[in-house]
Amino acid sequence: MLPLRCGVSKPPGFYCDAHFVIFLHLSADLHELILLRQAHLCGMVPVMNQEHGDTFLFKGRPWKEIDLWRDVSETEWNDPVWQMKNSIRHVDQLKNVITLNRHQAQEIERTVAVLKSEGKEPLRITPYYASLMQADPFHPKLLPGEKSKTRLDPVFWQSVPTPANLLFPNTGLEGAMSEESRSFGAAYQRYPNRLALLVAENTSCASYCVHCQRAKSLDGTVDVNREEIDRGLFYIGYNRNIDEVLVTGGDALMISRTRLKNVLEELSRIPHLRAIRIATRVPVVLPMAITDDLLDLITVSANRFSTGPEKYVYFMTHINHHQEITAELSLAVRRINQHGFTIRNQTVLLNHVNSSYKSLAETFRRMLWIGVHPYYLLQCHKERGIVHFITPIQIGKIYMKHLQGWLSGITNPKYAANIEGGGGKVLLLPSGHDTLNLDNDIEAKIAESRATVTTWDGKKVFHYEALGRASCEEYEEAMHIMDSFIGRAGVFLPKVILVDGKGKYLETTNRTSLPSMEQMRKCALLQYKTQENGMPITNPTDIGEELERRFRFSKYGK
Ligand code: SF4
Repeated sequence: MLPLRCGVSKPPGFYCDAHFVIFLHLSADLHELILLRQAHLCGMVPVMNQEHGDTFLFKGRPWKEIDLWRDVSETEWNDPVWQMKNSIRHVDQLKNVITLNRHQAQEIERTVAVLKSEGKEPLRITPYYASLMQADPFHPKLLPGEKSKTRLDPVFWQSVPTPANLLFPNTGLEGAMSEESRSFGAAYQRYPNRLALLVAENTSCASYCVHCQRAKSLDGTVDVNREEIDRGLFYIGYNRNIDEVLVTGGDALMISRTRLKNVLEELSRIPHLRAIRIATRVPVVLPMAITDDLLDLITVSANRFSTGPEKYVYFMTHINHHQEITAELSLAVRRINQHGFTIRNQTVLLNHVNSSYKSLAETFRRMLWIGVHPYYLLQCHKERGIVHFITPIQIGKIYMKHLQGWLSGITNPKYAANIEGGGGKVLLLPSGHDTLNLDNDIEAKIAESRATVTTWDGKKVFHYEALGRASCEEYEEAMHIMDSFIGRAGVFLPKVILVDGKGKYLETTNRTSLPSMEQMRKCALLQYKTQENGMPITNPTDIGEELERRFRFSKYGK
């Protein structure tokens, strides 16, 4: 799931066979999903129509209309084993799914080759997730208000390595997690009462995310072996303060059933442990693998040897854009909910993907509507290869401020950044409560990009800056490469700090004014129905007389 890593080695490619074995057992309960898919194909179930908004669920392209999968049967498509075996690993496959000109295909191929030469596993996309990409990812159709002219397809941009991943090599690595110095075996700890147990290889994920911390993640030489997990389990049992464990990887649901069962059963024996969180992106990229069999196993194993109160299981997932919120995901979430598990979500704020008020609002509220609780909006890490994904914190804060009031408290996540050296999360929430009683408005106060950060345990980080760094030459070359890759200028707009030969600050690129929006604009973007004053009803007494009259004639008033 979200980038937490550990580090012993195993040859690249190991995970494939192992996971195919797992999924042989996952394909049993697909009937409902098959029926749902069939219904969609026959037009029986209303799925999202982006223009007319007849439902909020996004509809992927029917696989029968995609060259690569034209002859694939219903049963195959809905079989997670088939999905994994037929994941996209090469540009040649990708060319039969989306439109790429020769230069774009060559550039993706070059990027994949460079990343592979560094020991990375850069490309794996399940056919299901790939079907959520629009045919022309360079001119995506997005919702009105999403500024589609400056955007690329959000699923493409998250899952296909592009030359952007090779840019800004001297950015200065942040090392947000610093796992090596805070671990015992597979247990990685940053807080007094909770830790992450890394049970899966970095490359276990069903689809690889380009925005994952590439410096360490998707490293084909990294493995989590049984001994490391046993050491982690031992530590959790030893430290009586640990009442909450995040079972993660890679992806916690992509390990073998045997390993998953064993880990959960061992956790069930630990008396002071109260909550188990399972980190997985499977519901988003491979929803057909969320079967009743798998959920039954988790239900039983997590409390197999518990003697006190039941341990509560939470699922943690990773949705970044409403284009990922589909009928298939909704069904997987319903299954998880029906087994009594709560499912929460961490979104990463990503430039070119979701960095706008409209995109964030639609993503958060649509995930809530299907039963996923928005939990964190995370600042993208400053790591080599993903610097172009970073949105300045002050911009993120303004979006969060704009969302306040327009979406409910349970729909708005907490905005946070992971601080370097394993400092943990620091909240970045803007506040409407001004104890200094200064005249400056909030925009003026948060316009400064550098900050002094205080972590939860009182450590101070001075001059914390979220953006990556580049020389002017690196920046110019980067723009040239990406404009020619995308085929037009003005789309690729990375925000980086330009420095001179001595590392001295020159300027920040693409410094736009902070996003300001009047209430009516926010209202219009969320398509609320409005009154004569251009605003929606926020108090029924404002139209009390009209309501009384209508009520008398309604079925309730008779
Ligand atoms: S590749 Fe994606 S799902 Fe896997 S750990 Fe990284 S961010 Fe999470």
